[in-house]
Amino acid sequence: MVLILGAGESGVGAALLAGKLGLPVFVSDAGHISPELRQELIDAEIDFEEGGHEIAMELFPDKLVKSPGIPDTATVVQHFIEQGIRPEAEIEFAWNYCNGKVIAITGSNGKTTTTRLCTHLLLEGGLDVIQAGNVGNSFARALSEGAHSHYVLELSSFQLDGISNFRPDIAILLNVTPDHLDRYGYSMERYTASKFRIAMNLQPQDDFIVYAGDPVIRDYLAKHPQKGSCKLLQPELDSSGIVRIEGEPIANLSETCLRGRHNAVNAACAVFAARMCGLSDAVIQSGLKSFVNDPHRLEYLGQYMGIDFINDSKATNVDSVYWALDAMTRPVIWIAGGLDKGNDYEYIQTLVRTKVVALVCLGADNTKLAKAFEGKVGRILETSDMSAAVSAAMECARPGEVILLSPACASFDLFTNYMDRGDQFRGEFLKLNNPNATP
Ligand code: ADP
Repeated sequence: MVLILGAGESGVGAALLAGKLGLPVFVSDAGHISPELRQELIDAEIDFEEGGHEIAMELFPDKLVKSPGIPDTATVVQHFIEQGIRPEAEIEFAWNYCNGKVIAITGSNGKTTTTRLCTHLLLEGGLDVIQAGNVGNSFARALSEGAHSHYVLELSSFQLDGISNFRPDIAILLNVTPDHLDRYGYSMERYTASKFRIAMNLQPQDDFIVYAGDPVIRDYLAKHPQKGSCKLLQPELDSSGIVRIEGEPIANLSETCLRGRHNAVNAACAVFAARMCGLSDAVIQSGLKSFVNDPHRLEYLGQYMGIDFINDSKATNVDSVYWALDAMTRPVIWIAGGLDKGNDYEYIQTLVRTKVVALVCLGADNTKLAKAFEGKVGRILETSDMSAAVSAAMECARPGEVILLSPACASFDLFTNYMDRGDQFRGEFLKLNNPNATP
């Protein structure tokens, strides 16, 4: 039987896949299962327990599938390890039953954008493709719902930590910059090694697309030879939006919804994956033009009184702010702040000094952020709700400038999540344009 620990999206996905395969399965969650996922288990007639692992501890499973959120050190996991039963990640479990071609994408930033773009290009090319993984449907759920010829997977480092045989046909590594270091004993080496696990089982016939402009990636590659066929990409973006690799133009960002050098990297990786899947350049170019990105990622909202509004609420770490500021061509009123995950602002000081005219801090506690940029920008204003932040930004902004929400921090101090934060920003922008509109 298959025992599944954790009943979130990946655990329930694994249970549904096991059920579809006709395998006996039991799900155990130490906490409460969300009502929707609980109902899915009931509908699929899958046995489960919640609020503890009592039943699970009495079982002798042939296979143990563990959600990425449960550490190996958890008592229940240790109990099975002692019996010689090693936990398997949902990604690995699902991969064992996948006959399609797998394109797996990881990186500290840009995973969702690249995964969505890659999926879109392959769909435009007429391929039978589905997107799954870290965001949206789990890989196992996607498989349980039917077979496809291509799977584009967004993978987090936590998911990669649990794999041992998972071997994609094409792996993409976008960048490695400090994030989630608390989970890796504050060791950049360990975090980097975790990201490179995406390629650890590749064979020479498999492709490994990497962004060669990332110093951490270059360093790691110099010390750790790879088995897969490495395609080192170093895209250059010119002022008219053309992305070139070794002189060859491969995309025109000005014809897409994507802006900035970081998106040149995302686009280049997606274009090469699409080429490797057999798509023609003509199809790829038209796919790039019709791509619509998820909101909250350098999302252009529009103009008010000649001032551009850009929502980059998904920028929850310093590196994504670096790229957002790098992409700005006009003076910036920067709205930032929130829950700090141990941010080091030193890295963006020069960029802030050259691009930012005013900083509007938006957090329950703005002390660290305000202090980091004291004397470095013309004005610093402190706020603790979105309406006040946008009013403060408007007070500083002049026509021809940009109000950019790119927080560098998590949102949970003042908002439900980054989407709520971005939606409130959009709401304030819409109110400015139409004060009588009802929300
Ligand atoms: P992820 O899924 O890895 O969080 P997203 O595509 O959702 O990545 O983007 C998250 C944030 O990172 C956004 O603010 C976005 O503008 C920025 N970003 C996107 N691609 C890159 C990249 N290649 N390098 C750095 N930052 C990026």
